[in-house]
Amino acid sequence: MANHPREEITFLMVKPDAVQRGLTGEIIRRIEQVGLKIVGLKMFKPTLKQVDEHYPKDKAWINRLGEKTLATYAKFGYDAVAELGTDKAEKIGPMVREWLITFMNSGPVVVIAIRGVHAVSMVRKIAGSTMPSDSELGTIRGDFSVDSAAAANRDKRAVYNLVHASETEAEAKHEIAHWFGKGEALADYERNDEMVMYPSAKAR
Ligand code: ADP
Repeated sequence: MANHPREEITFLMVKPDAVQRGLTGEIIRRIEQVGLKIVGLKMFKPTLKQVDEHYPKDKAWINRLGEKTLATYAKFGYDAVAELGTDKAEKIGPMVREWLITFMNSGPVVVIAIRGVHAVSMVRKIAGSTMPSDSELGTIRGDFSVDSAAAANRDKRAVYNLVHASETEAEAKHEIAHWFGKGEALADYERNDEMVMYPSAKAR
């Protein structure tokens, strides 16, 4: 039988901007208050290599970053050629990826493994949409940032959007192995509210 839904695991990273703004506790609080369980946690300054290996290197992902940036330039009337020297998505994508890597390597981050019902989609929902300026109030990005692609691209930097959250269970598995190490076991403990939240599930 498939795992009980409460066994779903996801990965969240508190990015350098959120750590430097003292938001780590607030972010953890929001995860725990919905009933999701922290099962792995550590703070450190990632190396350039670790960050580089975190973000996909495939052409489709990199081109998508370039296309999103071009769409922003078109929307706000910015001249991509004047600002970035090109208007080709396949040339802009790698630049945006570099901005991201520089940003993620700029200070300590907190990596968090989270277990619970619909953990992947719930954590994405709590995080808000990629651009804080588009995020709903009540989400981490919507409540604590006004950053936008337009502002970030003008400054030639990544969007400072406080957190990264895995998009799928497979991505979470890969990211947890990357950031926690393949052999590192996640914590296994019972929260006392689980008895109320999952009355019929066998106690862990
Ligand atoms: P998410 O982190 O919400 O899954 P993406 O995978 O699309 O979003 O992008 C990865 C990260 O790259 C974002 O979190 C953001 O920090 C940065 N980013 C995405 N698009 C842009 C852009 N157009 N300009 C600058 N930074 C961007």
